Amino acid sequence: TATSILLDVNGIEVIYSHVILVLKGVSLQVPEGRIVALMGGNGAGKTTTLRAVSNLLAGERGAVTKGSIALAGERIERLSTADMVERGVIQVMEGRRCFGHLSIEENLLTGAYTRRDGKAAVAATLEKVYGYFPRLKVRRTSQAAYTSGGEQQMCAIGRALMANPKMVLLDEPSMGLAPQIVEEVFEIVRDLNQKEGVTFLLAEQNTSMALRYADHGYILESGRVVMDGPAAMLRENEDVKEFYLGTG
Ligand code: ATP
Repeated sequence: TATSILLDVNGIEVIYSHVILVLKGVSLQVPEGRIVALMGGNGAGKTTTLRAVSNLLAGERGAVTKGSIALAGERIERLSTADMVERGVIQVMEGRRCFGHLSIEENLLTGAYTRRDGKAAVAATLEKVYGYFPRLKVRRTSQAAYTSGGEQQMCAIGRALMANPKMVLLDEPSMGLAPQIVEEVFEIVRDLNQKEGVTFLLAEQNTSMALRYADHGYILESGRVVMDGPAAMLRENEDVKEFYLGTG
């Protein structure tokens, strides 16, 4: 069956503070129900690309000045972040994981504040999230500030799931986590993708991990896509091996 394109980013240019040109014509497509990885080094433009999609640029004094972004065929570059949440697009920000002074469960519940389908539905989603993240259930009453980095990353993803998203924009999930925890987080992402049909666009500097879990990958360098292809193909590409996997 043909897969439809959920997100279509077409030649976008992003400028910060009116003068700093950061994305120089980025195009990418995310098919519905897939995991797409955005890779590349520090400052390549991964976070900026996610912000452009979720409309979080304004707070950073950034703007899309060229190109277009469409979600399921609808142009979205003039919408607000709240509009994007309403359309089921949730960004999990890099680093800023949880509200430290709230418990894990309170953090998760903040993710459901835009829902209008009632307490019972929210409670059911909470149980579902705990099913995917049993560690969070154990730590449900713990103050987030006193949980581990891995638990906080799980909490941030869990909070996004509380909104019943169609697509999650996941920024640098591996950042600051031990390899084993990174793997645990990626396994859950795969599960959520396969069992719940959540589409993921993830930004990740850890190329080898991203290519193990993604269906398709894009490599950014200095605000441009320099390569893209099925993950299996990128894993075997000589340049990717040499420059990004360190195995060439
Ligand atoms: P990292 O993994 O380090 O976050 P990245 O690939 O996500 O890297 P971006 O965060 O998108 O890259 O940054 C791309 C470029 O834009 C960098 O040169 C960065 O310094 C610049 N930049 C990011 N945010 C702003 C901002 N609010 N104002 C000005 N320049 C910015």
